[in-house]
Formats: sequence, C-alpha cells, structure tokens
Amino acid sequence: MALVVQKYGGSSVSDAEAMRRVAKRIVATKRAGHKVVVVVSAMGDTTDDLLDLAASITDKAPQREMDMLLSAGERISMSLLAMAVNELGETAISYTGQQAGVQTDNHYGKAHIVSMVPERVARSIQDGYIAIVAGFQGVNERKDVTTLGRGGSDTTAVALAASLHADVCEIYTDVDGMFTADPRLVPKAKQIAATTFEETLEMAAHGAKILHLRAVEFARRYHVPLHVRSSFSDKSGTWISDGPAHPELKGLVPDSALTFDPEAQLMKETPVEEPLISGLAHDRSEDKITLVGVPDEPGRAAHIFEIIAQAGANIDMIVQNVSTVQPGATDLTITLPHADAADTVKALEGAKEEGGFLKVVHTGNVGKLSLVGAGMRTNPGVSAKLFGTLSKAGINIDMISTSEIRLSVLVSEDQLDEAVRAVHTAFGLDAEQVEAVVYGGTGR
Ligand code: ASP
Ligand code: MG
Repeated sequence: MALVVQKYGGSSVSDAEAMRRVAKRIVATKRAGHKVVVVVSAMGDTTDDLLDLAASITDKAPQREMDMLLSAGERISMSLLAMAVNELGETAISYTGQQAGVQTDNHYGKAHIVSMVPERVARSIQDGYIAIVAGFQGVNERKDVTTLGRGGSDTTAVALAASLHADVCEIYTDVDGMFTADPRLVPKAKQIAATTFEETLEMAAHGAKILHLRAVEFARRYHVPLHVRSSFSDKSGTWISDGPAHPELKGLVPDSALTFDPEAQLMKETPVEEPLISGLAHDRSEDKITLVGVPDEPGRAAHIFEIIAQAGANIDMIVQNVSTVQPGATDLTITLPHADAADTVKALEGAKEEGGFLKVVHTGNVGKLSLVGAGMRTNPGVSAKLFGTLSKAGINIDMISTSEIRLSVLVSEDQLDEAVRAVHTAFGLDAEQVEAVVYGGTGR
C-alpha cells in the first residue's frame, strides 16, 4: 500500500465527463489498496475567464479581491470532483487551501507556502476516505485567501506530498509526460521515461511549461518522487527523482498498466562520459535590454544591478562586451521576463547620467533555446554541434549562457521554432514516428 498524491490540471477536469473519467481513476487507485489525496486545478480555462471578468470591471482590482476571486475556480472543481467520486461509491471530502492547512505569506497573487499542516487531510485518509484539496491557494496570517501564482496547483500537490510523506506525487496533464521538446512544436519529440530534479528544474526555468518551477524545487528539497503523466491514457509518463538509484521509486506504481523500471531506464547503455542530452526547452517570454557605453571601471556594474533589483526584476542572462560604440567602455546586456521590462527600462533611463552610460536599448522579440543534459559543460563538441546547426540554418546567435547541465542561446523570436526543430534533429532526438499525443490542448 502506498500513499499517492494525484494532481489533476484544468484540462483533465474541463467538463462533467472529464470529471467522471478522473473520478474513475481516483477510485481505481483507492481500490488497488492505496491511500489517495487529490489536488485539483480550476476547470479548463476558468482562471483565465475569471481574470477577464475582473478586467472588464476594473483595471485596478485590489489584490486581496483578485485572490478571493481566483480561488473560487478551484472550489468549484474540488466539490464537483468529490460528488463524482461519491457517485462511484467511495467517500470523498473536499477541502479548501485553508482547511488543508496551507499557510502562506502575504504576497497576494504569488504567495509562498510558509507551513503546511494538513491535519484534516491526514485524518480523512486515515479514516478510509479520499481527500480532495483545492490547488493554487492558501491562507495568510490574517486568514485571507492567497493564491500561489499561475500554475500553482503543482506546488500545492508537491507540498502536500512532502508533508504527508507520500510515496509518489502524480501530476496529471494532457500529454503523456515530459518530452525532448514541446510536442506542439516538434511533433517527433520523444517521451522522456525518467529524469532528475536538476534537469527538470533547468527545463522548467527555461520555458518548458509542463511543471510549475516552484513545485520542482520543492520536490527536490524534500525528495518527493514525481510522475508526470496523462489523465487521458494509462501510459507510464515521466518519472522525476534524485537520480538513477532511487530506491523509493520501486514497487510504487499505483496501477497495473505500468511496467516501467526507472533504474533500468536511467542506466540504459549510457557510455559514462558521453554527454547525455535530455531535451530542449524554449522560451519566448523574455526581453533584452542593452546598456551602451558603460564606463569600464569597478563599481559600475554593481550600481546598475542595484537599480535593476530595486525595480523588482528577475534577471536571466547577463553578458558584458567591449563597447561597439564607445572606446574604453563596455556594453552590458541582460535578459529578463517581459513583464518586468517596462519598469526596468524606466528605472535605467532615469539613472543614465549617474551611471555614466550612453543609452538604454530595449528589444522585445527574443527567443531562447536551451539544451539540457548531463556532461555538457566539459564537452566542447556539444557547443560546436549546436552552433554549427544554427549557422547552417542561417540563424544568428545573439547571446549564450551555460550552467553545468544547460546551454542556452538567444535568437530572434521569429527564428525560434525553426531553431528548436533543427537542433532537435541534429542531436538525434527525433523519434522514428510521431509519439506524442496532445489530448487536451491547454498544457496543464
Ligand atoms: N488554476 C490556476 C491557473 O490556471 C492554477 C493551476 O492551474 O495550477 O493558473
Ligand atoms: Mg489552470
């Protein structure tokens, strides 16, 4: 017997029929002898619809009221799903974030979980019931409802799994797991059978939308094995764990359709020092800002990044070059989320004189492609192949950044799709046939 946390995204519970399909799976898991805790997102596009509704009334909604509004979406789905389970002869009890003990800080719209005391949830499953918890929401110290940021139900699920010491957290979505690239863009993308938290973090941080970044961080910190899979099929999805020898993954497969052995998969004929490319992530949500003619002296960059930090921006790439315009000076380029760009540009424009630089150039249309896998940093062949492939396709590389297990390049946004497909093929990642089925279409 295992304790299984199952999270169902909006596309898995988009209407009554979908609810019934999910309820069947929940009941089957319970009847296979497991304890089941379910976390559910709002039905289909409910959250977007609620946002539109608010926008049609005001463009300055108080954040507290926004969270009150958005949290309603998950309340609808949790209660309906409980009814659907009850119809099948099991007892399900639904809980709001507050009832499930999700305590957060006060940052409406992007609250972080500060503690998790799921007493009532634990008691319910102990008593033989199925607990259904509203994802994406918690409560702050004033007992006001908060939400965790778009896609936050994944984080609720992993946090619950961690605090209940669940054996596995299953993330149900509308594709059969993680793929070597977004199957909507690369139809011949291959399914990834097993991967590590580190690689998944890099994929999620660089544009792969399959998992909420904070959920992966949480899972890594508390060693919660994740299984990302489709609620529309019985296929095994992608297992994410600490690494090859993860003993806890064994014997935990909650339904008989699965025959996957993660250890065997990860160890499969991997020549030890060959780089092992896991997949490609792409991102079109970033902008680029270049400061031209920054004086080349100590303290200048520190000052500039202080201004950027005060503007509240999260920076991704940073590159400093000899200035193309001003002899003896440097040009400093950063990339950052599109949503942070306007405020940052404004702050930097205001600091031009004090910072001693000539101008601020803001470019909106950038695309980022990231290659993720083990052993890339020390293997120059990987960069050579990546750059060669892009050059053959006539695609100019604007910026480059690396980590231990990632190589990212910035290209113009209109060439991004082509770049992703060309690189996917060049690294031998294409499947022989189209494997990916996109069942729902919203990607959650
Ligand atoms: N319903 C919320 C959203 O659409 C949370 C989630 O789906 O995880 O962002
Ligand atoms: Mg959603």
